[in-house]
Amino acid sequence: TKVRTSAETRARADGGKPLRVLVTGAAGFVGTHVALALKLRGDGVVGLDSFNHYYDPELKIARQKFLANAGVCVIEGDINDEKLLKRLFDVVHFTHVVHLAAQAGVRYAMENPGSYVKSNVAGFVNLLEVCKSADPQPAIVWASSSSVYGTNTKVPFSEKDRTDHPASLYAATKKAGEAIAHTYNHIYGLSITGLRFFTVYGPWGRPDMAYFFFTKDILKGKEITIYETSRGESVARDFTYIDDVVKGCLAALDTANKSTGSGGKKRGPAQLRIFNLGNTKPVPVSRLVSILEEHLKVNARKKVLPLPSNGDVEFTHANISLAQTELGYRPTIDLETGMKQFVWWYLNYYDRSRKN
Ligand code: NAD
Repeated sequence: TKVRTSAETRARADGGKPLRVLVTGAAGFVGTHVALALKLRGDGVVGLDSFNHYYDPELKIARQKFLANAGVCVIEGDINDEKLLKRLFDVVHFTHVVHLAAQAGVRYAMENPGSYVKSNVAGFVNLLEVCKSADPQPAIVWASSSSVYGTNTKVPFSEKDRTDHPASLYAATKKAGEAIAHTYNHIYGLSITGLRFFTVYGPWGRPDMAYFFFTKDILKGKEITIYETSRGESVARDFTYIDDVVKGCLAALDTANKSTGSGGKKRGPAQLRIFNLGNTKPVPVSRLVSILEEHLKVNARKKVLPLPSNGDVEFTHANISLAQTELGYRPTIDLETGMKQFVWWYLNYYDRSRKN
């Protein structure tokens, strides 16, 4: 299986020893899946999450319980809490960090700009400060975002493309994170891999994302809005299934080299890498709605409006050849199959647990 391939890579890179991984944002959507996958393949995992109220905190608590049943502990705490982080590193001596804690979402930034700066910039710096002084210095894999490509019109988006036109404050803080990662790699020899995720979806997903609230609204018979571009086409996204993204994260961990310490001179330069993790097949949102209608067996009430200028971009489309070559990343799940999994989870777990 793919998991075994990943473990084999690790066996070559690290003598096959289990990793000791801190997963930040572990009560979040991607964090839950990454923490579970690491645990299932035999690595040591500790989760950290602030359980902020950006969306349904009950869903985060349910994910925490789900992970607890699998033997993964998610501690409540903030990445800005230096004392807490230092204590965790002193006790566990993490070899790796998967940093997924962030203030996500594009539109929320219009009303809450400070929360993006606090979690995505100040919190990231605080975490890197602790990693810099930790012994051993952990290798870090963190979530950047396809949003850094902003209003880029050259498709597919490649890591070499310009990223100096972020369309939202969220995108700007992710772009800032990439610059901060560069600095900590350059000065302190930290090994850092940034992953630009493209619209990740699946079971345990995020209620603020379109596929999730469309599902809710279609079932309630509420009208949904599909946005179109200035050329009259439906907005399109390179939807990427969670299991594919998890495999990409694990491959990034398994191929991360050791940090070199201050100055980066002892063992050759530590890695600073950026990869797109997308699906390479952008799908119009109008098609996403048709897929949901098929799986839910309900016709949606829809209206079409021009895309407002609130931070959303017209389309995303990943070029993944770098991740293919360096990480062996190969997404395999198409939107029809992935949405079937999501709808199953929504109807049989999420909706049911809300009604009881
Ligand atoms: P999520 O909101 O479900 O998870 C993030 C978690 O981080 C939340 O549980 C939140 O409580 C926690 N958190 C926020 N600020 C924190 C802080 N200061 N200290 C500790 N915990 C904090 O989002 P997700 O979809 O799982 O995204 C994971 C990462 O991937 C984020 O960095 C996000 O920006 C990035 N990303 C996600 C997508 C996507 O489509 N899901 C796309 C691009 C990038």
